[in-house]
Formats: sequence, structure tokens, C-alpha cells
Amino acid sequence: MSDYLKQEVKFLSGVGPKRAELLNKELGIYSFEDLLYYFPYKYIDRSKFHKISELNPNLPYIQLKGKITGFDTLGGGNKKRLVAFFSDGTGIIELLWFKGLSYVQKNLLLNTEYTVFGKPGYFSGKYNIIHPEVENALKTENVISAESQAHYNTTEKLKKSFLHSKAVSKLMNNLLIIVKDKIQETLPNYLLKEYKLISLQEALFNIHFPQNDDLLKKSIYRLKFEELFYIQLNILQKRSYRIHKSIGYVFSKVGDHLNLFYEKNLPFELTNAQKRVLKEIRKDIGSGKQMNRLLQGDVGSGKTLVALMSMLIALDNGFQACIMAPTEILANQHFDTIEEFLDSLPVKVQLLTGSTKTADRKVIHENLLNGELHILIGTHALIEDAVQFKNLGLVVIDEQHRFGVAQRAKLWKKNHQPPHILVMTATPIPRTLAMTIYGDLDVSVIDELPPGRKPIQTTHLFDSKRLRMFGFLKQQIEMGRQVYIVYPLIKESEKMDYKDLEDGYESISRAFPSPKYAVSVVHGKMKTEEKDAAMKFFVKGQTHIMVATTVIEVGVNISNASVMVIESAERFGLSQLHQLRGRVGRDVDQSYCVLMTSFKLSNEARKRIDIMTKTNDGFEIAEADLKLRGPGDIEGTQQSGLAFDLKIANLGQDVKLIQYVRDIAEEILDNDPDLKNSDNYILAKQLKNISDRKVDFSVIS
Ligand code: ADP
Ligand code: MG
Repeated sequence: MSDYLKQEVKFLSGVGPKRAELLNKELGIYSFEDLLYYFPYKYIDRSKFHKISELNPNLPYIQLKGKITGFDTLGGGNKKRLVAFFSDGTGIIELLWFKGLSYVQKNLLLNTEYTVFGKPGYFSGKYNIIHPEVENALKTENVISAESQAHYNTTEKLKKSFLHSKAVSKLMNNLLIIVKDKIQETLPNYLLKEYKLISLQEALFNIHFPQNDDLLKKSIYRLKFEELFYIQLNILQKRSYRIHKSIGYVFSKVGDHLNLFYEKNLPFELTNAQKRVLKEIRKDIGSGKQMNRLLQGDVGSGKTLVALMSMLIALDNGFQACIMAPTEILANQHFDTIEEFLDSLPVKVQLLTGSTKTADRKVIHENLLNGELHILIGTHALIEDAVQFKNLGLVVIDEQHRFGVAQRAKLWKKNHQPPHILVMTATPIPRTLAMTIYGDLDVSVIDELPPGRKPIQTTHLFDSKRLRMFGFLKQQIEMGRQVYIVYPLIKESEKMDYKDLEDGYESISRAFPSPKYAVSVVHGKMKTEEKDAAMKFFVKGQTHIMVATTVIEVGVNISNASVMVIESAERFGLSQLHQLRGRVGRDVDQSYCVLMTSFKLSNEARKRIDIMTKTNDGFEIAEADLKLRGPGDIEGTQQSGLAFDLKIANLGQDVKLIQYVRDIAEEILDNDPDLKNSDNYILAKQLKNISDRKVDFSVIS
């Protein structure tokens, strides 16, 4: 893009400093280029003309061709208005103006052919259009005509300053008149030819001012193609560098740690999926390249065990390992699980969280440095500068979407050489997203649950059936099982129709009175110690019911819990519902999920509930989620910023195109890994622009 387009938007005619500031703040538009890439969200066809005799009051917009047969001025003062009687030979319609009357009247001529466009109104038997657009008359010079009218999203604040869609379109008009010839091509010629893409210039022009339907389609396609193509090219090049050029520790052998564990301590057979994933990991860590692997597995699929065994291999090769978890509860749980798994093996494991006492901390720091400590498990506390390892060989990150990119990067600065990385997530990521956000990572999937698990039965109940639900919980508790009841928020201030946790807790306490029943509460506003204490009671089976907000969402593993009740389930997104449901069903006994909602449900909410009651498959749910909500809300995309950066492509809808351009990018890189060919000069230059602009999230090392 030429430097001309880098000019501040305030220099564009029609903008000025005040509007520029609004455009900055409200839409993130700073330069000419930003404005040029602010694309319409819809188009209204301007190729069709209506006949006045055939109008009906339900038409959103109409376009007429005809002549003004006379004027009238009605009312006075504030209510003064100009009426023009407009005829197309089939009937008469009134054009109305409340503002700029004299200007309008001066510029409109009787008996001259005009095109009129606007929203029709219908009032006491007559059609009218208030403040219509009148072509060829009321417009100043330099107006670009188009077959469809582009519509732009604007905000309330912008509208208050009269920057509504039409005004944005006007700015776009002014912009394109001066920049059209200065738009430089951003794709090499051979790609344009081979994949039948129109030029950038034509595409940017037609996306704002479509000359016809075909050109509009081609413009959208070209711009989507380019956007997705460069994302893939960027990721694939990084990936290829990591694979070909990075250096990683070589974990060449399996030794006593793993062997002893496997023979003496492993309480069950590994599932085939676990075995396969371990093989994939072993191949990576033995290769001499740095491993960067994403391990996806539905909740309860046994990722922790895979992580542990990978860490034991690190130990066998003389290295230390660590696991980082997003919350203290989870770090504690990993610590307990792993200690139990490692029972009596000569492996030293420690827990480091925000609550670790200073004195203990010191010892941990020392033992990490002198190598006496083998495995460190913890939270954010692990990335503090004071935490230094003797030789960290493997980092496991659990539920990674909770960690910011910068935080992660800090962790591997602790070494001379980057350790191997295993990122684990139970949030299934649809293929297109994985290809895009984690395109640089290698992906392993545990697609099999440990044997004997029964699919969780999911039911939807309206709030009016709460007593029935309570009855069911009592039966389960009678059978010795435990129950979660989850609420969206601790204090709902805006709307009363959501049961908030405090009210809920009261009614639950009444329905489940002590001493027969014991109830724990955990929510975000409690102190860590209080939370942990409440959690512990539940973990130990001393309380029957855990009333909680979503703090228990991720990873908590209490296999005796058999029912997950989700209150105001309509308020949760699909992936969150799925995560919550995954807290039960961790045992061979039947588990249940009850989705409680109010009677009134939006269409979207109903769809979510339907999907939840139909399937337990996390990937299916993730795909549905992506379709329903778009990628901006999918966990993992927020941090990457990617979903918001996309200007025209849609990760949910453009699945085929993503795969298509990925293959094209791959082929280019196969032939020219460093993009040194003169043909590929543009590609190299564009990539550099992209990586200068963005935080690089795709490479986590
Ligand atoms: P997640 O993938 O959600 O982290 P976990 O690692 O917490 O799952 O495993 C869930 C439960 O399944 C744990 O109690 C774990 O001990 C058990 N588990 C893991 N692998 C197996 C297996 N191969 N056979 C039986 N149980 C297993
Ligand atoms: Mg887990």
C-alpha cells in the first residue's frame, strides 16, 4: 500500500479533526487506508425501479424514475416542510423535506427526469418519502454511482455526530476519488492469473461502490482470499522455520522414571488415543527440534496422564519439567493427582502458587536451581522472575486459553534454549480455527474417553419445574452422589429474571436443610482460602451440593459428582455449557446435566440448548458454536485478537476457502521457503508488513 494511504483520515475532505477523533475512537480508523478497509455489512440493490402504482407499505426501500410536477410548502415554524409531487406516469408520490427547504427547491427542476431513492412511508392513503435521495440534482460533483448502495455499521456516538451509514459512504466516495489510482497491488500477478482474482484496485472500489453484482462477488472473493491467504502464509512460514531451523533438546531415551511408573503405578490401561498421542509427542521430543504441540481432548479424556508421562520422559533425559495451570484450584488438583500417581517413585514434585509461603518459596527456588526439584506445578507464580530452573526441558500448559501470550512467552525465557511445549486444552477448537490461530502448532487429539464411561444425559427444564429437579437431586444424593448447581453471576444487577446465586443459595438451603444435607458455595468474590476450604469439603464428600459460579468451569475433577445443574443456562455460550457439563461423567456411573432456563428463550438460546441435549461431542459443539456466534466469541480467539482483525473473511463461514488458500500458501513455500524469488517479492513484503503490525501469537516460543 502506498504511503499516500497512510495519511491521517482527518485530512480527507469531509472529515476534519473532530470527526477524525470519533472515527479513531469508535471504529479504530486512523488513516486513509483504515477507512478504505472499513467494509460495508450489506448492500441495497439500486438496479431495480419500482412503479408508483405497484407500491405497498412494506417495501424497505424503493427507487423510482420520474418527474416533479409541482411544489408546495406546508406548515410554519418548526413544522414547515416542502412537498414535491413526483410522478412516474403510473401514480403520484410525495417527496418531503423538513430541512434545507430553500436549497432543495433551488436545485430541483420541474419536468426533469430524476431518480429518487428512499424508504417509502404511507400516510392517509398516500405514499411519501421523507428526505429522499434525488439523483442528478441534489448531489455535488464527483459522485461515484453504483448499482448497489453499500451500508456501513456505525455507532450511536457516530450517529449523534451525523456519521451514519450514508455519511460514511460519502467519505468513502471522497476517498476513492483521490486514492483509486494510488492503490498498489498486494498479490503477485501469477496468483491473480492462476486463481482468477480481480485487482486490488478494482476490488476495493467495487466493495464500496459495486458496479454490478458480478463485480461485487469477485471483489468480496478477492479480498477474502487475500486476507486468509496471508494469514496462512505467515503461519506456515513460521511453522516451517520452527521445523527446519529451530533447535530443541533431544529426549532420546525412556528410562527408569517412565518405566517404573508404567509398570508399578499406572492404575489402568492407556486408551488407544492416549497411546497414539504419546507416540506423537515422543517423536517430537526426540527429533532435535523444539516441540510446539497442542493437545486437544474433551473433558475427562485423560490429558493429565499424558502430560505426566511426557514429563517423566524429560526426567529420564536429565531435565526438569513444569505444569502451569490457570487457577489455584486446578494447580492444587494437578499436584494432588500427580503426587498420587507418582506414589513412592523417586520424583520430587512441588506446588508453587500465590499462596505458597515465603519460606517454602525460597526452598523451592533453591531446589529448582540445584536440580533437586524435578517437577514444578503451579499457577502464574511460575513465571515470576525469581523462578529459575537448572534445566527446564518441558513446559506443559493446561487450559491455555486462560493464559495471555506475554505470560507464556516469559516462561521460556528462563532457559538458554527454549524447552519443549505441550499446550493442553479441553476447549475443542474447530478445524478452521485451529488451522488459523494455532496453525503453527502441531495438533494431537485424544478422541476417546477412558472405557466404561456412559454418555452424560442432558435434559432441559423450565424454571417452573424446579421442584421436580430438586426431587431428582435428592434421589441422587440418596444414592451417595454429589451435585453441582452453577449460576452465571454472583450479583445480577440489570435484570431480575436471572436467578442469581445468592437467591439460589437461599432456596437451595431451604429445599436441602441441614443437618440432613450439607451445601458448599464457591464464587468469584470469595477469598482464595475460603474458596479452597469450600472446595475441599466438596472434594472430600463432606458436602452434597456445590453451589458455584463458573469458577469451577475448567478442569475440576470430582468423580463422585453425578449431576450438573446449570441455572439460567440460556446465558451461557455453548463451549462454556460443554465445559461445565464435563465436570460430571467422570466415572462409570450414569451422570446427568440439567439445563434450567426461563420460559422465554431467544432463537439462539434455544438452538444452544437443543445442541446440548443432542450431543456430547465437543467438536460438534465447537463447530456449532462457531456457526452460531462467529469466531469472535470463541475462547482462544480473544487473546489472539485474530477474529477481530479479520475485515472481511469469516472463520465460521469460509472454511473451504481457508483450506484452499492454505494449500496454495503451502505450495508456494515448498518451492520458495524464504520467498526469495522475484515473483514472490510482494509476498515477502506483505508478510513483513503483517508481522510488523501484529503481536505474533502463532509462535508461542
Ligand atoms: P482431562 O483430559 O479432562 O484433563 P483427566 O486427565 O483429568 O482428564 O482424566 C479424567 C479422569 O480419567 C481422571 O480421573 C483420570 O485418572 C482418569 N483416566 C485417565 N486416563 C484413563 C484411562 N486410560 N483409563 C481409565 N481412566 C483414566
Ligand atoms: Mg484436565
